[in-house]
Amino acid sequence: MTPAVPEDEMRPLLRDDIRNLEGYHSPQLNVSVRLNTNESPLPPPSGFVGDWLEAVRTIPLHRYPDRTARDLRGALGEFLGQPADRLFMANGSNEVLQTIFLGFGGHGRSAVVFEPSYALHPHIARITGTEVVSCDRLPDFTLSPSVARAAVTEHQPDIVVLCNPNNPTGLVEQRSTVEAVLEAVAPTTLVVVDEAYAEFADWSAIDLVDGDARLVVVRTYSKIWSMAALRLGFCVGASKIVADLESVALPYRLSTPTQLAGMAALRHEAEMASRVRMIVSERERVMAALGEMEHVEPFPSGANFILFRLGDKAHAVWQALMDRGVLVRDFSSWPRLEGCLRVTIGTNEENDAFLETLDLISREDA
Ligand SMILES: *Cc1c(COP(=O)(O)O)cnc(C)c1O
Repeated sequence: MTPAVPEDEMRPLLRDDIRNLEGYHSPQLNVSVRLNTNESPLPPPSGFVGDWLEAVRTIPLHRYPDRTARDLRGALGEFLGQPADRLFMANGSNEVLQTIFLGFGGHGRSAVVFEPSYALHPHIARITGTEVVSCDRLPDFTLSPSVARAAVTEHQPDIVVLCNPNNPTGLVEQRSTVEAVLEAVAPTTLVVVDEAYAEFADWSAIDLVDGDARLVVVRTYSKIWSMAALRLGFCVGASKIVADLESVALPYRLSTPTQLAGMAALRHEAEMASRVRMIVSERERVMAALGEMEHVEPFPSGANFILFRLGDKAHAVWQALMDRGVLVRDFSSWPRLEGCLRVTIGTNEENDAFLETLDLISREDA
């Protein structure tokens, strides 16, 4: 029997299975050097903003947006070399992931994740009632084909989530690992590869979608396209899977300004590509500098951020950086990430500010 609750304390309650979940939190603090959420350090090119605003001015605002986002999917499909019917689009890749879990997860179904990885994968899974099976990466955060194969064979999940490159570790998932998972899973299992940072890495799983209805690759405009504020993401999958996702998602979910922004961005591809090159070269510079510092252990990265281990002092260092106006992400109290912080690659000046401040703090400490 449920214990009696005094009437004045009764209120609507969340479902039993999600009542004690913690929400997503990454502090949004106003400091001069913000290197904590892996955004692009630069706003979109000014040509983009001009193009977009001009297009926005002509929108018939009393009409619903194009429900199928036909023009955007056409343009993006051309850009990716994929037919438009293999693209599903939503407000950020988090909404894409949520739609995947709504449709292919849910009560009585399970999802395998390999941790540490993106915390929103298990979070979204749980919210949709999907059972989460958390499997471990190796201590160096790699995931070998044999470990991945064994896990999916043992647990027979409905969904497997991989992240390439992986957030927050930065490591690029091996192609052979993705292939091993695809070989090992049942014909009814959906393999989701979150590629929010793919453009910073040297390979993408998009090529593997061809002919394999069990794979969806999730991408976002939030990072490389400098469009985090606009909320636009998509996945590439077999056309039947895309049709299934459409049947689950809300109609008219993508506003017309969002659709127009997605198209305008593609017209500025060259600038995007040159920014990716700038960030990759800054990443290599920051990686080398961290590698030179005593008591700092950076992990290899194929993304626009670097995870580094400092040990017991990590939280104090995070605070000291923060006190000096440099915000990075504190993972030091997360399971498997003890003693780790993560820094997003910013502009040359921001990266210098981070490196100099970190160096200063470690000297003061010594
Ligand atoms: C940043 C990030 C996303 C992006 O989410 P959006 O909703 O598209 O902004 C998705 N997956 C991972 C792993 C990320 O790090």
